[in-house]
Amino acid sequence: MDHKILIIDDLEIMRTMLSGIAKEFGEVVTAATGKDGLIAALEHKPTLILLDVVLPDIDGFKVCEALKKDYRTQDIPVVLVTGMEKDEDAESKGLTMGAADYILKPIKVPVVRARIQTQLTLAEKSKALEEANKELTHLAMTDALTGCFNRRYFMNAADMELSRMKRHGYPVVVAMIDVDHFKRINDQYGHEVGDEVLSVVAKCCDETVRYEDTLGRLGGEEFAVLLPVADAEGAYGVLERLRQTVSDLTFPNVPDLRVTVSIGIAELTGEDMSIDAGIKRADEAMYKAKKAGRNKVEIA
Ligand code: GH3
Ligand code: MG
Ligand code: MG
Repeated sequence: MDHKILIIDDLEIMRTMLSGIAKEFGEVVTAATGKDGLIAALEHKPTLILLDVVLPDIDGFKVCEALKKDYRTQDIPVVLVTGMEKDEDAESKGLTMGAADYILKPIKVPVVRARIQTQLTLAEKSKALEEANKELTHLAMTDALTGCFNRRYFMNAADMELSRMKRHGYPVVVAMIDVDHFKRINDQYGHEVGDEVLSVVAKCCDETVRYEDTLGRLGGEEFAVLLPVADAEGAYGVLERLRQTVSDLTFPNVPDLRVTVSIGIAELTGEDMSIDAGIKRADEAMYKAKKAGRNKVEIA
């Protein structure tokens, strides 16, 4: 992780001394007033700020408070540099304002070094944690094989869309997409080919629907798509195109393999208490498509 340390101090000699130590850890930027310090914090997004308490314009406590109030800078650790060791409140005051630590003047090089190191290590750990959290959130939402949203995420998103629809009165359509005779594909070509078919079908679905549509893998070879602001006829055009695209797919490694899907469409209504009701109707329409010979789109 590349570090950038912002030093806010009105005394040039202090800026020079602190910079000399901070340089060991990364890039250094400096500011001589509270106001310039706040601007520099926004502009440079430093990993750490060393902040003098006594400044000519805004005092360090207020600068610290301002940094902590702004969502753009609130996560940057601030270490106060204070000469006010006789002021017993300085330490607790600084820490209540959200400072992470403090350094007493006259500064001792090993202490400054240790304080900087501690804060940078913490910053690195919290960044790693944040990234792990992002990754976990992503994993919790998506299906590993196809990259589509998983069933749970899809159902939540669909329920939210349903209540939005009720509030604004616009139509929403849900479609069920099921691969035809998928068992045979697995049996004839093996599970690996089956998995590839699922990935490719998911990709086709993803490329066919619009950005604002939500696509999920509900189970084995079954996908669902939620199309806000569309009526069943409007959605039919989109899904008919999808059906056609899938049936035209070819697989270079398995030249004789052909894949088709059966699709059922249902409009959601104001009476639907949850997405389940709409999915049930779309499912029934999808089975109608199966019965009618598969590779078809049916409206409920
Ligand atoms: P239909 O046309 O009536 O839909 O027939 P089908 O064979 O597609 O339907 P069925 O629901 O009977 O079979 C689905 C099969 O999908 C059964 C299961 O082994 C397979 N399957 C489920 N999940 C996966 C997966 O992640 N990978 C692979 N390769 N196969 C899967
Ligand atoms: Mg199937
Ligand atoms: Mg099935």
